[in-house]
Amino acid sequence: MKEVIVIGGGVGGLTAALFSKWFGLETMVFNDSEKPSQLALATEIDNFPTYEKISGSEFLDKLKKQVENHGIEIKQDNVVGIKKESDKIIVYTNKGEEECKILIISSGAEHRKGGLPGEQEFLGKGVSYCATCDGPFFKGKDVVVWGGGDTALTYATYLQNINCKVTLVHRRKEFRGSEFNQEKAKEAGAKFVLGKTLKEIKGEKFVEKVILDDGSEIKCSAVFVAIGEVPSTAVFKQVGIEMNKSGFIIIRDRTQKTNIESIYAIGDATTTPLRQAIVTCGEAAVAAQEAYKKLRLEK
Ligand SMILES: Cc1cc2nc3c(=O)[nH]c(=O)nc-3n(C[C@H](O)[C@H](O)[C@H](O)COP(=O)(O)OP(=O)(O)OC[C@H]3O[C@@H](n4cnc5c(N)ncnc54)[C@H](O)[C@@H]3O)c2cc1C
Repeated sequence: MKEVIVIGGGVGGLTAALFSKWFGLETMVFNDSEKPSQLALATEIDNFPTYEKISGSEFLDKLKKQVENHGIEIKQDNVVGIKKESDKIIVYTNKGEEECKILIISSGAEHRKGGLPGEQEFLGKGVSYCATCDGPFFKGKDVVVWGGGDTALTYATYLQNINCKVTLVHRRKEFRGSEFNQEKAKEAGAKFVLGKTLKEIKGEKFVEKVILDDGSEIKCSAVFVAIGEVPSTAVFKQVGIEMNKSGFIIIRDRTQKTNIESIYAIGDATTTPLRQAIVTCGEAAVAAQEAYKKLRLEK
């Protein structure tokens, strides 16, 4: 039996594993290789101390190497369920099962789908949820970014900077994203259409235009959907972990405890007040310390 299992090999999970090992606990990580860490989608991180500029994927590569250098095992297996027994937690994956004394969940979140006519039909044919992955295919073309948060704004900036002609469509007159990211998108030259939303995505074989809710249309070759996140927590429901209406795991105090003993949760999958790497890393260190206290100091 492992002392600590971490679910999630993104920024939070890897940091939790690093700290858990640092506290002397036998630790392993399960990561679903099919679901990228949200940070891998960041083209440029400039708000993490010591890095003036680093891409999300480079940041994660460095962190993964650091974790592996400490001899921590990372299994690229998808966790499909967990079971709590009096003295242990069983973690079921697509390949088998493993037992542990303490579980730290850092399963993050994924893109919210818009449910628009044409969205599914044109997926991979102009509809995308990841600007860094698919943006380079549309250099020199008209593209639409849909959303008004930091993700939408950073997508607009990135796409404009790689020479796409960006129109950002957002249903409200104000953005949810930061002033800083708004300024960056404006400076890059992205065009804003505010107070309107997308109703349909149309084309023949590939995306050709979007129809807005006022009946107007915008010709484009791609639509980048960035309208929020849904937590990757569905597999933890059956064990009774308390979540809010949207499925984010409820954290009750500053020690990252869930309502179930010996199960902690951190990062974007939780009701954290700020979904940013720096916060997730701090929560990871605290959860690892709680594991240490429980396993080594409480007897
Ligand atoms: C476009 C974009 C730009 C961003 N830019 C910044 C920025 O500049 N600065 C900043 O601080 N933050 C930024 N963020 C936010 C940051 O990415 C997140 O706050 C951070 O990644 C959260 O870490 P996490 O560990 O909670 O989740 P993630 O890093 O998303 O990791 C979750 C991991 O869990 C794994 N997983 C999920 N379900 C399972 C399962 N069932 N079994 C096994 N593994 C599973 C996934 O494979 C994934 O690797 C950005 C986010 C986006 C989308």
